Amino acid sequence: MATKQEEQQNNQAGRHQEVGHKSLLQSDALYQYILETSVYPREPEAMKELRELTAKHPWNIMTTSADEGQFLNMLLKLINAKNTMEIGVYTGYSLLATALALPDDGKILAMDINRENYELGLPVIQKAGVAHKIDFREGPALPVLDQMIEDGKYHGSFDFIFVDADKDNYLNYHKRLIELVKLGGLIGYDNTLWNGSVVAPPDAPLRKYVRYYRDFVLELNKALAVDPRIEICQLPVGDGITLCRRIS
Ligand code: SAM
Ligand code: CA
Repeated sequence: MATKQEEQQNNQAGRHQEVGHKSLLQSDALYQYILETSVYPREPEAMKELRELTAKHPWNIMTTSADEGQFLNMLLKLINAKNTMEIGVYTGYSLLATALALPDDGKILAMDINRENYELGLPVIQKAGVAHKIDFREGPALPVLDQMIEDGKYHGSFDFIFVDADKDNYLNYHKRLIELVKLGGLIGYDNTLWNGSVVAPPDAPLRKYVRYYRDFVLELNKALAVDPRIEICQLPVGDGITLCRRIS
């Protein structure tokens, strides 16, 4: 018979399988309540369509959750964002949440090493009438950032930057993004609670990729916490998102 502790661990594992990197809330019922009461009924039709289309894709664990999409959409409107960037697009759920929030002449520089997945969601984005705001670049983001920094004219030009890609490069991104974001602008780093593994004991049974990236996430969180160029706010939305407001 399983001990109480084993039972708790099993429940925990089951819960993580179910909601994974989409919510760290302590109760599935509570998360479901939020989705069903406040998120799904207000979700734009195009976002619903893209979410449902993405759910059929084998890598759907990567998609941004609907509640986080709603949060991003509201945040972008609150800060009157116009010029934005996204690193890590996948099928485009957070991209669409962003595109719908921006004014008609708003811009999103969107980067991903995988064009195929972006193209899966693109027809939905086009149907929503917001594809003209997106400048998609296929390939690793780092060289594009280096090019922009070298160019000079992009310094301090972004209102909002959403980073949701290779976690082992987040600190490399941060070094560059801090120059590209406006003073008073925001960078959002996603998955900064990394499936809750940031507080897991060293012998915890973590999936291989969770274990691999955990140290990078821990290092990022430590670095952001002491970076005097930014104010930060770590939110337990989705898998954790850290908002960084550039102040110098
Ligand atoms: N924001 C997306 C959404 O809402 O569905 C999810 C992004 S998914 C978690 C991470 C993405 O980062 C993948 O599509 C992957 O191809 C991309 N990626 C990985 N390494 C990258 C890199 N070096 N540069 C740009 N994109 C990268
Ligand atoms: Ca994410």
